[in-house]
Amino acid sequence: MTTLTVMRLLILMAIAAFCAPSSALSGDVRLLRIGTGGLLGVYYPIGKALAESITGASIASGLVAVAQTSGGSVANVRALAAGEIEVGLVQADSAHSALRGEGPFASVDGVSEIRAVASLYPERLQIVTRRDAGITGVPDFRGKSVSLDVTGSGTLVIMRIVLAAYGLTEEDFQPVYLKPEFTREWLAQGRLQGFCLMAGTPAKAVQDIFGDEHSLVPISPEIAREIAQKHPYLAAGVIPAWTYPGVQDTPTIEVRALLVVRADMDEALVHDITAAVWNERTLGTLREAHAQGRFIAPNTALTGLSIPLHEGARRYYEEQGLLPGDVAP
Ligand code: GLU
Repeated sequence: MTTLTVMRLLILMAIAAFCAPSSALSGDVRLLRIGTGGLLGVYYPIGKALAESITGASIASGLVAVAQTSGGSVANVRALAAGEIEVGLVQADSAHSALRGEGPFASVDGVSEIRAVASLYPERLQIVTRRDAGITGVPDFRGKSVSLDVTGSGTLVIMRIVLAAYGLTEEDFQPVYLKPEFTREWLAQGRLQGFCLMAGTPAKAVQDIFGDEHSLVPISPEIAREIAQKHPYLAAGVIPAWTYPGVQDTPTIEVRALLVVRADMDEALVHDITAAVWNERTLGTLREAHAQGRFIAPNTALTGLSIPLHEGARRYYEEQGLLPGDVAP
């Protein structure tokens, strides 16, 4: 088949996939919906690159993967449990809460059936403010208007942990619940003094607006350590210098971004997906898709996993000699 024929076939399969009401498509085409995050986060470009790669690697088996935007980690776990997506990008802390049916997942059916395919890259808490708001630390949120992201985001869960660690509640300032892409105008107009995002770096939502009139708010290393003690999958981290113009190393907290599926997904299918994620072509596509891509590597595929591996993924890692014994919590 020529490249053109393959492209046409893929387009036809994708159209069929989009038009189908569920993941069970007629014929041999199977749809794999990947839940990501907002358009200007990192889940979306990474999810899109994964979708292209998985589809490309699966021409023979007729698997068509598509990336969908979403509210973020919590929304992805819920969508997975509800059968609205097949694969999701999820913060390790949210995955762990889902497994245990805690926090935003208390009494939500099916969420404990979440299983890992891979640990991908570190996400870092980024708090962007207008410099003229004078917010040099989280306690300065008092009296200001700051967006904490939407219900359904992993960012909001993290921000509630951070606020509590600083002894603040959402009553102490004017919280706004918007995805970062919708904060731009309000920030420019001064209606909003800042917004928060737990994501890989650099995040487009920050990159697109960041200038001399903005600053990144640090999480003090002491508070980060305190948080990490209480929440095992959160760790003290740093937004490296010059991730955004003129900004030096900024202490913060970080968490791993995981690729997850449901326990009842077909073992052979998850094995194939795992193999597709780690093939050289995919790694190249991921590096091109986003700066975080170069941190996605097989030797950190099991780093910071907060939930058990799916059996199909486990078999892949066993075959590759990547499994150092029992990694499940
Ligand atoms: N970790 C974020 C969340 O779950 C999403 C980050 C992203 O879109 O890259 O809310």
